[in-house]
Amino acid sequence: MTKKAGMVTHPDGEVKKYAVIGNPIKHSLSPVMHTAAFRALGVNATYEALEVENLSRAYDYLKENYAGINVTIPHKETIVELLDEKEMAADLIGAVNCVKFGRKAMGFNTDLHGAISALKDVVPHLREKNILVLGAGGAARAIIFGCLMEGANVTIYNRTVRKAEALAKEIGEKMKDIEVQRRPDPVGFDILINATSAGMYPKVDETPLTSGIPSNMVVMDIVYNPLETRLLRKAKEAGARTISGLEMFVRQGAESLRIWGYDPPVSLMREVVTKELMKND
Ligand code: NAP
Repeated sequence: MTKKAGMVTHPDGEVKKYAVIGNPIKHSLSPVMHTAAFRALGVNATYEALEVENLSRAYDYLKENYAGINVTIPHKETIVELLDEKEMAADLIGAVNCVKFGRKAMGFNTDLHGAISALKDVVPHLREKNILVLGAGGAARAIIFGCLMEGANVTIYNRTVRKAEALAKEIGEKMKDIEVQRRPDPVGFDILINATSAGMYPKVDETPLTSGIPSNMVVMDIVYNPLETRLLRKAKEAGARTISGLEMFVRQGAESLRIWGYDPPVSLMREVVTKELMKND
């Protein structure tokens, strides 16, 4: 296990330790966002990025030394089996991105909360809305379950079609049938959500969708680096309303803080991450 970010040390009192674990992890913006939040709250806590290769080996150390962790690629699914308890949504999704350690280790999926909260700011009622989700990875799973819990109808498209079919089968068995597209076609949908990595820095010229975007759609991209992806730029040009991945990122982080018992300074968190991302422009 390698520490990739500096710790903020506090002169007195018990320091609560938090971290994000993943591999690779050095580009994560979570340490900057959470450290700023702890400072603003005056909380005696640290937040590091830990590069973890073998989660089973690192788990006991994490449980003993940290009050909570965020979990990212490739450990979101593997950690589920190691935890003592999971909230219902995390259990359903089969992925955890936030853990609260205590007498028991409890897992949560704050990606779901972050995505749905960002979406509902623009479309308050998702019931019966027709949503096309691009992607069949970990983030797509959380978003699809979140949309179905809100009563929306979901269709998915993924570059590797068999993965989309496998995910649709699993979701159909656990919750509700969803359709699978063989080519991404947003026509007739109310909302389009990109939950793939296409367009992410440094491959900013990539886009998960080459066909035109209807002007009456809402388009959300969960990629947050760059702040405005090629997909979002095209959607804006077409007259569609857009939601950037920054909103999901900040809100999943804010929800993690709530789970750990803090009142998140959301505006400050958004400001700090925006400033970091602007450095890439
Ligand atoms: P993942 O499990 O590795 O899944 C990646 C998905 O992207 C797969 O469906 C993959 O398709 C697809 N994909 C990758 N490159 C592509 C390309 N060039 N064209 C089309 N599809 C492509 O990753 P994940 O955890 O779901 O994360 C996906 C993205 O969401 C990442 O960029 C991540 O940074 C972002 N994310 C953002 C937030 C946020 O808070 N805003 C939270 C979580 C994740 P195949 O199956 O065909 O490989």
